[in-house]
Amino acid sequence: MARPTRHDERGQPLPADKQVMSAFADSHKIRAVADTLEEEALELRSLQSSPAGGRIDDQIVSDLLVKAKHIREYCTPYALCPACEAKRIGKCKACHDRGWMPRSAWKIWKAST
Ligand SMILES: [Zn+2]
Repeated sequence: MARPTRHDERGQPLPADKQVMSAFADSHKIRAVADTLEEEALELRSLQSSPAGGRIDDQIVSDLLVKAKHIREYCTPYALCPACEAKRIGKCKACHDRGWMPRSAWKIWKAST
């Protein structure tokens, strides 16, 4: 059994909120999907020059890499919500009541404060 996650990706301690703790505890599963897509893209790229890979175009490889990046940046728990710190879940528009933000939303938040 995995150790409970106690910090977000920035090292910020997590509050004892089940929803937030669970989100960060499971975030590695989402990152694993992104890793798999990236590995598949790189495998396809390596097959492009093989006799079987003649129909694998660069766009397919690029699409998979973009999806992997999108999942990491836009879909994966990254930081405790800096607006509510998971103390106003149900009332926070910044994190859409999740108590956390993906990296993309966190960057926008930090740039605006
Ligand atoms: Zn929030």
